[in-house]
Amino acid sequence: YSGKSPNRVVAEKLHRVLVASIKSVPVVVNEKCSVYDAVVTMFIEDVGTLFVVKEGGLLEGVISRKDLLKTTLGGHDIHKLPVGVIMTRMPNVLCTTPEESVWAAAKKLITHEVDALPVVRKVALPDGGEGLEVIGRLSKTNITRLFVELGEGI
Ligand code: ADP
Repeated sequence: YSGKSPNRVVAEKLHRVLVASIKSVPVVVNEKCSVYDAVVTMFIEDVGTLFVVKEGGLLEGVISRKDLLKTTLGGHDIHKLPVGVIMTRMPNVLCTTPEESVWAAAKKLITHEVDALPVVRKVALPDGGEGLEVIGRLSKTNITRLFVELGEGI
C-alpha cells in the first residue's frame, strides 16, 4: 500500500499528463479570411474555435462561435468583413504549451471561461523579437476524452 489517498493518486496522474499527449491538430485561418469563410471552415473542420495566424503559423488571434454569431447580428456584409476585425487579438489570447500539464491547461479553460487554447511554441523572429507558432489545439473535448479514458481504467 502506497499510503496515498485515492484522491491524491488521481490528482498526481492529472498533473503528470502533458498537453502534448492529448492535443489536436489546430484549425487556422488568415486574418483576411471573411467571416463567411470562417463559418464555413468551422462546419467543414467540425471545430468551435479557429486560430488566426500569419506567415509561419504565427499566432495573431482567436475566433469563437459567439464572435461569429455576434457579427451576423451586426448587419455587416459577412462576405467582405475579415476575421481580423472581430477576433480576440494578441496579447489577449490565452495559450498553452506541449510541456504544460493537462491540469494547468484545464484550469485556464475554466478560470477564463473559454473553450479552447492554442498550443504554441516560442520562435525567434528575423527582427530579433519573439513570436508564438501555433502547433496544436487543446479544447474541452480533449479534456473530456481524457476523463473518459481515465474512467475506463477500472
Ligand atoms: P463560444 O463563443 O463558442 O462560447 P468561447 O467561450 O471559447 O467560445 O469564446 C468566448 C470569447 O472568448 C470569444 O470572444 C473568443 O474570441 C474569446 N476566446 C476564445 N478562446 C480564447 C483564448 N484561448 N484566449 C483568449 N480569448 C479567447
